Amino acid sequence: LFAGPVDFVKGVVAMSGLPEPDRLEVCFAGRSNVGKSSLINALTGRKNLARASNTPGRTQEINYFALGEMNRFLVDLPGYGYAEAPKPVVAKWQALLKSYLAGRQTLRRAFVLIDTRHGVKAVDEEILTLLDKSAVTFQVVMTKADKVSTADRDASIEQVKGAIAKHPAAYPEIVVTSSEKGDGIETLRAIIATLV
Ligand code: GDP
Repeated sequence: LFAGPVDFVKGVVAMSGLPEPDRLEVCFAGRSNVGKSSLINALTGRKNLARASNTPGRTQEINYFALGEMNRFLVDLPGYGYAEAPKPVVAKWQALLKSYLAGRQTLRRAFVLIDTRHGVKAVDEEILTLLDKSAVTFQVVMTKADKVSTADRDASIEQVKGAIAKHPAAYPEIVVTSSEKGDGIETLRAIIATLV
């Protein structure tokens, strides 16, 4: 299902710039450096697809990718948690994010990426709460699972489960991934493919 073409559609900076909602979409959110670009690249099998969204000028854009074969948009939200970002930039971005999450009818799920080494942090809690308020179902995708021992991974999964239990918008099943090793990638593809 992910075998077809994948195209960068556009970077969006305002609600008016969103593409026609002519297909279902999923979005990806996570702290900067969580492994979001690597995950999108692993999912799509394209090495540098999400590289564009990490270049400085693009970090405040909502980046749209089209999975041609599957009729889905993959939506890459800017990484959050940059301490250095100037306040007006953060405020503008938060306003866009709120409008997007609350107003995008074709958005079926938000994947919130959590680094397996770190678990859910305060800055992640903010987005989980926003997803609750926006009534967007979110599913946690744990990244970089190859970087920790099995025991540490299991402990991290428990921490995440505890954190999401407080969120009504949480989808209970957590996907544990390693973009490096390919773990969990097929599972995530199947989830995206079967959303209706
Ligand atoms: P982004 O800022 O969220 O887009 O994060 P990147 O995808 O650029 O990844 C940040 C860093 O983590 C890079 O050095 C990646 O090579 C590394 N990384 C990402 N995913 C994995 C993974 O699954 N395993 C390992 N070991 N490293 C990863």
